[in-house]
Amino acid sequence: MAEGRTRAAWAEIDLDALAHNVAVLAHSAAPAALCAVVKADAYGHGAVQVARTALASGASGLAVAIADEGLELREHGIEAPVLVLSEVTPDAAEVLVRARLTATVATQRGMEALAAAARHVGTRARVHVKVDTGMHRLGVAPVEAPALVQAAAAEPALRVEAVWTHLAVADGTTADDQAFTALQLRRFDEVVAALAERPRLLHVANTAGAIAWPAARYDMVRCGIGMYGCAPAPGMPGDAAAVVASLRPVLSLKARVSAVRELDAGERPSYGRRRALPERGVVATVPIGYADGVPRRLFDTGSPVLVGGRRRPLAGTVTMDQLMVDCGPGATVGPGDEVVLIGRQGEEEIGAGDWARLLGTISYEVLCGIGPRLPRVYRSAGDR
Ligand SMILES: *Cc1c(COP(=O)(O)O)cnc(C)c1O
Repeated sequence: MAEGRTRAAWAEIDLDALAHNVAVLAHSAAPAALCAVVKADAYGHGAVQVARTALASGASGLAVAIADEGLELREHGIEAPVLVLSEVTPDAAEVLVRARLTATVATQRGMEALAAAARHVGTRARVHVKVDTGMHRLGVAPVEAPALVQAAAAEPALRVEAVWTHLAVADGTTADDQAFTALQLRRFDEVVAALAERPRLLHVANTAGAIAWPAARYDMVRCGIGMYGCAPAPGMPGDAAAVVASLRPVLSLKARVSAVRELDAGERPSYGRRRALPERGVVATVPIGYADGVPRRLFDTGSPVLVGGRRRPLAGTVTMDQLMVDCGPGATVGPGDEVVLIGRQGEEEIGAGDWARLLGTISYEVLCGIGPRLPRVYRSAGDR
């Protein structure tokens, strides 16, 4: 069974689409380099496979949120630069150094712990100093940044490769958002101007910054969501919209019908008996549920799924492991038929962004929510 060991539900990852998106983003950001952000298991797509494909398609390095994610890449033989986007706790510094991960440093204490770990291991640790220009999540304050960079540069056990920051509203379209991004860039430039020496790399932009803010590209951009074929937000401005339009969705969410039954009008499938069948018809059971990342609330949003190339409504509340679909009167659907929850079937397509809009969230959360219980099935032209 191609879909996994025994499971008739899976996430399909189109590695050709991923390679295409990496090439599009790399091209649009050039001459800046592209760092492929593969945190959170590559937004649910599978970090190791995504990392390999991204590196083969134009990415110069990788970024993860936490050191454990970097260790996973190293354990799978990936030797490219891996930037950990948060400062590790002092007790984790040695693990990071031994795995040759690139550290983010945002505090004097973190810098000293890293230097001590590097001395202990007998190596030089690579450092990217993070500046807080307005996101207020992580980073050294701009006024303290030059001194921290200087102190790190003076440590023989450290090699300061980069200074970086992160944008809070690069995907925003209001005048306020635009002004705030411009302010963050100005603060960053002021920090850089105050450094005794310009580091090899300056990097600022996420996907939205990379495609909507040419001035934010510097030497490297850090792209996540665009690689996965989703817009950072609906309604990106100008040139950014053209880039977004050329991206291809990478992940599809699919399952095979496990059971069908014909029910009378008025029957109310699933927990809570929330919806009455409008007419006598076929209801299909599909073995995927909220434990796999299909939000229970999807039923309330009225979001359809694709069966037999048509959009069909859920017949009731999503359960933990299964959901039911109202396939309508006389539907010829049977066990084993493919159901597409996210992706394309025939002429119809449902995107992670469509779920996000209906659920009042962002595509990032939809993708990251696709659970580890679902097998990932990787496809590329070579195996078609
Ligand atoms: C997640 C993340 C990114 C990638 O953001 P996208 O919007 O997915 O491109 C870049 N930089 C940092 C610091 C991040 O945390």
